[in-house]
Amino acid sequence: MSTAPLLSIVMPIYNEQEALPLTVERLRPLLDGLDVTYEVVGVDDGSTDATPVLMRKIRQDWPEFRIVRFARNSGHQAALSAGLHRAFGDYVVSIDADLQDPPEKIPEMLALAREQGLDIVYGVRGDRGTDTFFKRHTAGAYYWLMRKLVGKRMPSQAGDYRLLSRAAVDALKAMPEHQPVYRLLVPWLGFPSGEVVYVREERVAGSTHYPLSKMVRLALDSVTNFSASPLRLATWLGLTSFLVCIALAVYTTVAYAVGSTVPGWSSLFIGMLFIGAVQLVCVGLLGEYVGRIYSAVQARPAYFVGYDSAEEQDRYGTGE
Ligand code: UDP
Ligand code: MG
Repeated sequence: MSTAPLLSIVMPIYNEQEALPLTVERLRPLLDGLDVTYEVVGVDDGSTDATPVLMRKIRQDWPEFRIVRFARNSGHQAALSAGLHRAFGDYVVSIDADLQDPPEKIPEMLALAREQGLDIVYGVRGDRGTDTFFKRHTAGAYYWLMRKLVGKRMPSQAGDYRLLSRAAVDALKAMPEHQPVYRLLVPWLGFPSGEVVYVREERVAGSTHYPLSKMVRLALDSVTNFSASPLRLATWLGLTSFLVCIALAVYTTVAYAVGSTVPGWSSLFIGMLFIGAVQLVCVGLLGEYVGRIYSAVQARPAYFVGYDSAEEQDRYGTGE
């Protein structure tokens, strides 16, 4: 492609031989009808079924369909990352390949972003009726925890179906993280944003590639990416046990004075409590330093400039 398209669609694809043809069937007419230049970046996350062959076939009569293929399976977030880094468009929409995110919402997202000059348009799930009871509740707990970590900027029930402007994509590309969790990083950016509500549909074909183990990993990645609180747990436990230690020491001394103890018990008990508390506090101290080293290594930018009068372009229309 000689000039950059207006719209890029980033689609992580892993073993989707059943779903992909149906997705293309629904996506293509929609994009062709949009009357803008576009590209679809299909990121094949090391599929082991007929997906790669299928993708080559699709590309043969759909030149806007780009193929990025991973040498091995690296996970949904990694595929998303590669797609975002390689997309050329002024606006980039990320979408699943199984039609769970209805592509019909893309024009709505694009229109909203262009009309209101937004950098982020979240696809927010209005209804999880098609998800299993288990998925609904684990997802509920996940989003509750993430809001605690990222703060109110995090829209609840927003997955990876969203639109990003070029500025937002460039900001994300500037992040030096190795394992970005975009559904947290994007709200963390805090750029002007809007929402489009959609109903999460049922997977059109095939089965989910997100078993419990991957969900747990995503949750762990999310927490450790955004918070050193787990490290701080030792500090708090240590301080608490120190207080408990003092209270029990008083009790033990009184018991000793009254004479209702076995010989040797008081000294052993106080010694044990004391050593336990000291150890926890020390582990906590280490945790504090490790936490700070971690955030230094993450090296996230402290700010993003939205407007500078010395530069020609005023992205938010806030300048004179
Ligand atoms: N996916 C991927 N790599 C993986 C697992 C999934 O690229 O290791 C893709 C998959 O093809 C789909 C999207 O990520 O387009 C979401 O995966 P899935 O539908 O299995 O997850 P769920 O919707 O059940 O959470
Ligand atoms: Mg899915």
